[in-house]
Amino acid sequence: MVVRPHRPWAVVALEGGSLLAFAIYAGWLAGRLFEAVSGALDLLALLASGVVGWLLADLLSGLVHWAGDTLGSEHTPVLGPSFIAPFREHHDDPQAMVAHGTVELVGSTALLALPSLVPVTHLVAFEGQGPLRLALGGVLLATLLGVVVTNLVHRWAHMDRPPAVAALLQRAGLILTPARHERHHTAPFDGWFCISSGLLDGLLMRIGLWERLNARFQGRS
Ligand SMILES: [Zn+2]
Ligand SMILES: [Zn+2]
Repeated sequence: MVVRPHRPWAVVALEGGSLLAFAIYAGWLAGRLFEAVSGALDLLALLASGVVGWLLADLLSGLVHWAGDTLGSEHTPVLGPSFIAPFREHHDDPQAMVAHGTVELVGSTALLALPSLVPVTHLVAFEGQGPLRLALGGVLLATLLGVVVTNLVHRWAHMDRPPAVAALLQRAGLILTPARHERHHTAPFDGWFCISSGLLDGLLMRIGLWERLNARFQGRS
């Protein structure tokens, strides 16, 4: 049983404010991108970039998850208690994260996303700049969105009764499903690390990415 530490109000406020700011800026950037669409090619580029960004987020979720599960320990300086411990605790008690609140799960990731989201939303022109600029904006937005919701999506995959919208997205296969994720929590516990949508998991297992990373980095930390 994992004992959850007390969360200072300043941390809760920072994470809550970050999540709110992320939601506002993500909506704002999405609006700017769609406003700048001026033809079928622009629209196609924007929609395709959404798919690419969503898959990129899945890849990033897998890499970060692999690092958290595999490298170092809870006692590693700096990253041990804050980054590695939650991954190890999750394997000791996978259901514990179901009790965590949304702000706690995604607030700190939202904070990390703001330094790239805010300047792009304010400073980058999309109107009349062509499909490539739109696609780059779309990839950034979809990637950040996928990364920020990863822990929430991961929690939903562990819930017996997830919210209706989550169940709908799981049935559509757009986010991590309990069946996809169960493979990660099954012996030998050394694969299926993607926890955003899990769409890339099959491909990454086939190319042996995790085995290659284990061979390259395990035992060096
Ligand atoms: Zn894991
Ligand atoms: Zn899990």
